[in-house]
Amino acid sequence: MGKGHVALVGAGPGHPGLLTQRAKGLIEQADVIVYDRLVSPRILLHARPEALLVYAGKQAACHAMPQRDIEATLIELSHRFDLVVRLKGGDPYVFGRGAEEAEALLRHGVSWEVVPGVTSAVAVPAFAGVPVTIRGVSRSFAVATGHAEDGAIEHAASAKADTLVLLMGVKELGRIARLLVERGVSPETPGVIVEWGTRSRQRKAKGRLGELAEVAKREGIGAPAVIVIGDAVKASGDLAWYETLPRFGDRVAVVASTKQEALKAAEELEAQGAEVGLFTWDLGYRVNRWELTLAVERAVSGAAVGIAFRTTLAVESWFCALAERGVDLRRLSQVRFAALDGYVADAIRRLGIDPDARTLGEIARQKVDEWWVEEVPDVPAERDVYAACRASGAEVRTLALLERRSLPEAPDAVTPHVRTLADVMREWVNEGAINEVLGYGDVQVLRPLGLAYGLEQAIRRADRFAREAERQVCGA
Ligand code: SAH
Repeated sequence: MGKGHVALVGAGPGHPGLLTQRAKGLIEQADVIVYDRLVSPRILLHARPEALLVYAGKQAACHAMPQRDIEATLIELSHRFDLVVRLKGGDPYVFGRGAEEAEALLRHGVSWEVVPGVTSAVAVPAFAGVPVTIRGVSRSFAVATGHAEDGAIEHAASAKADTLVLLMGVKELGRIARLLVERGVSPETPGVIVEWGTRSRQRKAKGRLGELAEVAKREGIGAPAVIVIGDAVKASGDLAWYETLPRFGDRVAVVASTKQEALKAAEELEAQGAEVGLFTWDLGYRVNRWELTLAVERAVSGAAVGIAFRTTLAVESWFCALAERGVDLRRLSQVRFAALDGYVADAIRRLGIDPDARTLGEIARQKVDEWWVEEVPDVPAERDVYAACRASGAEVRTLALLERRSLPEAPDAVTPHVRTLADVMREWVNEGAINEVLGYGDVQVLRPLGLAYGLEQAIRRADRFAREAERQVCGA
């Protein structure tokens, strides 16, 4: 029998702050993540770059992977991997077919657990300013699927809840409204329809039940959307807050060397209401252990070497490697460090070493026998830097620390559904206009990184990218 564990995890409605601690922890550890269409790319960014991402996306009427295949896939993956995360939008047991998957796992003796998520049924109205209960106005709420043929609407109407929340109901809204009116709900009841709640694309339209379908059509509001019907919609007139944040609706691309750096920048922007996409070297590349070992060996050999770092990813990996081998930093007294931009210099300083060279002139003045210059994939070798290194009288070598990541092998049936984090972020780029691109590092290093993700147009429009990044370039 399999050794693996499967976690059915709720990813929440999209906003990164609505991911539970347990969900985040499991995503960070997962070997495989099988995710749905409504899981936002920002949530997937917590995955280890070497995790296998499997898109089981369902789109209305167009199932990427049939439900039975998903169940079989989870079982098969549990035989091959230690931790499989089945990631679903919102809560796994709210219209996510989580129960069926749990039962299949149970039947096959697979170890499993469920991690509840923040359901869109409650969170999306809240982000649009509508509480589902309000003392004295709404003392009960019902959540139903809008698939009218299920009889769900009739059931929900008979429950006579004060507030009715409908998921998957936009397309059928006209019919749903008629059914509700037939069951005694007044066509004058206030309603709201909220599209892409908690995301930058959040939009809403209000109207009375009798006209809501028309309003939605006129405003072009479509799936995914949550529909709320009841007096709570009117009573909560002034409770919109998310849409009033200064950067609500903005999509910002943060381009940086490491995910950790990018996440730090993202948090501030997100607190102001922006939606942030992260684009970093460590999404698609990993550090070449062999080169790393080589560089560490040279440094501790006592030779007079200099290392010119271009990415904070390389700085951090290199120092990690030293720590792993238990190297006392005092043994590096003869090693010279050059930082080719301000962020890299800061990363070296954080590790307790003041960089010896920040400018080409300083590089040329170092007394070293050999300079190792970090080469970054797709980034043209900077002739100036090599020239400065040679001017110091040293031999110049390249340090190619970053190499493209290879992913674990997937079962054949799953292969067509495998995505990389780079694919996921490219999809984010294509989801809509990007208002701003912020670069954290040397613009020469970051530009190719941005281009690899399809940020070309956004970068061209965003002069702030150039300005922010340029400030940090060597010698500036
Ligand atoms: N398990 C999910 C629901 C899955 S059914 C949950 O608990 O939220 C899919 C439906 O959920 C969509 O058709 C839509 O009605 C709703 N939905 C999910 N995320 C949404 C979002 N960010 N904005 C609006 N509706 C959303």
